[in-house]
Amino acid sequence: MLYSQLLSNDFTLTDSITDADIAIVNTCGFIDAAKRQSVDTILSVVERKTSGQLEKVFVMGCLVERYQKDLQKEIPEIDNFFGTNDLPKILEALGGKYKYELLGERTVSTPKYFSYIKISEGCDNPCSFCAIPIMRGKHKTKPVEQVMDETMRLVEKGVKELIVIGQDTTYYGLDIYGERKLASLLTSLASVKELEWIRLMYAYPAKFPHDILQSFSDNPKICRYLDMPIQHAADNVLKSMRRGITRKTTENLIATVRTSVPDISLRTTLIVGYPNETEADVEELVQFIKDVKFDRLGVFTYSQEDDTTAYGLGDPIPEEEKERRKEHVMEVQRAISLEQNELRIGRTTRAVIERIEEGNFVGRTEWDAPEIDNEIFVPKKNGFHIGDFVKVKIEDATEYDLYGEIIS
Ligand code: SF4
Repeated sequence: MLYSQLLSNDFTLTDSITDADIAIVNTCGFIDAAKRQSVDTILSVVERKTSGQLEKVFVMGCLVERYQKDLQKEIPEIDNFFGTNDLPKILEALGGKYKYELLGERTVSTPKYFSYIKISEGCDNPCSFCAIPIMRGKHKTKPVEQVMDETMRLVEKGVKELIVIGQDTTYYGLDIYGERKLASLLTSLASVKELEWIRLMYAYPAKFPHDILQSFSDNPKICRYLDMPIQHAADNVLKSMRRGITRKTTENLIATVRTSVPDISLRTTLIVGYPNETEADVEELVQFIKDVKFDRLGVFTYSQEDDTTAYGLGDPIPEEEKERRKEHVMEVQRAISLEQNELRIGRTTRAVIERIEEGNFVGRTEWDAPEIDNEIFVPKKNGFHIGDFVKVKIEDATEYDLYGEIIS
């Protein structure tokens, strides 16, 4: 959005800091590592301003929402701060004008053939460890018409894979329509003929809207893929995390998803090192992932965040121990991932070609999201290009990659 606004105001944009007069640092304040990275970036940019290589430094985003006063005090060289909803103010500070007619206009910064689409902002869930509701506020659904309008604009720019995101996508619609509307939104998106794939991310498991499973069954364009962050499996941890779900309910939900959408690839994320997590809880989590066998899985270590409900529990588990638990879970997942990938050998599926590497096309199947999941390697074939959606036969697999050939 900012890109489009700046371009329409005749600003010249550059990704290279050495070519810039003004730097805008977009920050993330989600967990410690993200905060550190944001602050490091601000400091390196400020250094350029101090040495006369930059005129101005603007800082925007989540970190500003949470820590503007601290940043102002600690780094006075920053010229201006903007929160997550301050786009018009950024334009104003630059001497430009916010153009409301561009609402929904996006400059695609991802490769041309895929784009993320945010269907909501903020979150109403009470997860004890999470600062997102503090930074982003309550859930705000983007109306269906606006999502569709944005989608059509993306399609005009060549987007074929739409990745549906929001802090909690399953809540979609409840605030403005009085009911969850994700299923009908997915169906509407699937009716856009230029789109090849629609991929659903961040489906909160508690109060999961089961009608979306019918949308999956009815619409082959909706990828056989679901990202459903469960965070943990031990009931005492889930309760303290205020996730609104138990291990048993999670298990039942996963079984229903797999029965309703056979062949679906399930991704989840977990947190280890939560303050009340015991060794026994970690082993329970490990047993859970052995039983459920997620196709894709990521693990974060717990990060104590200011003003969250869990803050008062302290952060008693040392970082090395958190890392050990993470590595333990990932080690178990490596074997599961290999097992799940091997089940795909001999199968035919669709894939998108993303790049060329040593005579091979490298791409992704519908079971994999960009940047976080597996890739597929197929020998390069004449007549096919980057961004093409092709049919592939899978011939081999490792823990995190697939190998095959293009059929058509
Ligand atoms: S659902 Fe996600 S964004 Fe919302 S509070 Fe929980 S962890 Fe945070």
